[in-house]
Amino acid sequence: MEFKILEIDLNSQEINIREISEKKIENYLGGRGLGAKLLHEEIKENPKINPLSEKNPVIISTSPFTGYFPSANRTWVTTLSPLTNYYTTSSGGSHFAGELAKNGYIVIKITGKSERPVHIEINGEKIEIKNTEEEYWGKKVYDLIEDAREKGYEPLSIGPAAEKGVKYAGTFPGYRSCSRGGTGAVLGYKKLKTILVKKGKKDLGVSSDLKEIVNEKFKEVANEREPRQKTLPLVEKVNKAESYPTNNWKKSKFKDASKTGLKTLKKHIVKTKSCFKCPIGCQDVMKSKYTGKGDGVEYEIAWALGANLENKDEEIIIAANHLCDQYGLDVLNTAGAIAWAKEASEKGLIDYKWKGKESILELTKKIGKREGIGKVLGEGSRKAHEKYSKKDEDFSIDVRRMNLPAYDPRGLRGMSLTYSQGPRYGCHLKSWTAGMELGQKTEERTSPKGKPEISYEIMIKRIINDSTSICSFVNSYSREDYAEIYSKILGKEITMEKLKKRAHEIQKLERKIDIERGINKENDILPKRVLEKPVEINGEKVKIGKKQLEKMNKELYKLREI
Ligand code: SF4
Repeated sequence: MEFKILEIDLNSQEINIREISEKKIENYLGGRGLGAKLLHEEIKENPKINPLSEKNPVIISTSPFTGYFPSANRTWVTTLSPLTNYYTTSSGGSHFAGELAKNGYIVIKITGKSERPVHIEINGEKIEIKNTEEEYWGKKVYDLIEDAREKGYEPLSIGPAAEKGVKYAGTFPGYRSCSRGGTGAVLGYKKLKTILVKKGKKDLGVSSDLKEIVNEKFKEVANEREPRQKTLPLVEKVNKAESYPTNNWKKSKFKDASKTGLKTLKKHIVKTKSCFKCPIGCQDVMKSKYTGKGDGVEYEIAWALGANLENKDEEIIIAANHLCDQYGLDVLNTAGAIAWAKEASEKGLIDYKWKGKESILELTKKIGKREGIGKVLGEGSRKAHEKYSKKDEDFSIDVRRMNLPAYDPRGLRGMSLTYSQGPRYGCHLKSWTAGMELGQKTEERTSPKGKPEISYEIMIKRIINDSTSICSFVNSYSREDYAEIYSKILGKEITMEKLKKRAHEIQKLERKIDIERGINKENDILPKRVLEKPVEINGEKVKIGKKQLEKMNKELYKLREI
């Protein structure tokens, strides 16, 4: 099989197409692993570059499974984060990756910086860099998608927030989002508004033995669970476990959780779409009276724009999510900054009056446009805290400026590890121990015992999965399937043990990038409120504490060999 990388330098406007060796695919697997490798290759001579400099590349990668296997359509965007200053990688579904694969590429590498706003059009080997001041610059994400699709292209784009330099602006393959760590802010700095790939190219030809597995997997995926049961049921489940951060993490239970859960939000679904070659089709379109139709809400979003802002109005949750998509913002950091502003306003620290739920929409727009108080909030809650209330109690809930997601580690102790030591920091997706811990008794899930081992095991599985670009909502691929498929693609035996070893090396490389940038283990820490303040769980006060976190982290460093 051939694996091609498209290299585009925005300084010189030079375009290169070259092959990626099978050895590199064998070692870095694809998707997330390949993204980390190519980023490191680009920056290793000068590892401390500013994320907002010409030298910071953006690596857009898919996997050797993409384009023909069902649900293997995630696009990975890897770069140095202008928010955290360290490695970040983020992925989203939709159709971009599948269409890119059919155009013949597994990776696009963007280097340099354009003088003027541009977009890139890819039609097989015909690649054009076009001035886009008139056509797309300034456009909101949904408008750009509609326009590009009408012209026969599938877009990967940024919104106005990235153009204006919001530090956690994201990148959007179609309507989905690869936003954590501000991947879009880097593209905005480079003045690259969108990459358009020609839709409807011929399906990729695959060997007959692979075709057999592809057909089998289509049947299995099509028979999977009821699609809408993916993440929203977690609202009530995590709340019941009293691990549902509420009101900027002051509490861990939201009395109105059921009003912002599956039952309520389901009523707003007007349509369901599918990602590229996915027979499940679980991408809900939801309608709100404030913004009309747009992408649906999942668990993290329901929490970030609901419980954590003490908002029980689901119309506002749906609308604020649409605004984040339209301006091209990461929802978790937008909502984290708003949660900080709510508390700062209540404490009288800023010149902004919290007006309840309307403030959620108002501040989202201000951040998206980077105007008024939105300017400082667009730098992240930590920067805002440093500016307005450094001497006050620390109520910015972030690790390295990434606002935390929806699982309170005081009730689900394993989560404190991936939040504090990454990869990516302040993130739940790289080792989601919560799934297992929610099945444990209270004393087990609030205990550190065994959590580093579990965290490591989940991290390794996750890297393999992420590198195949297969959607994590899909259950039909076993670990053995991955080994068999890689063996057939590469024409040599790839065992599960080998895949695990590669995943181990990939997570080491991810950390190596940060070590070379000068990361300090002392800052692998949780926000003060989460680390030191107790919350009530089952009638008992529960807290983590620095000593316990350090001990757990040490055990995990050992397993990770970092
Ligand atoms: S399961 Fe849902 S999110 Fe995953 S690929 Fe299919 S449609 Fe997309």
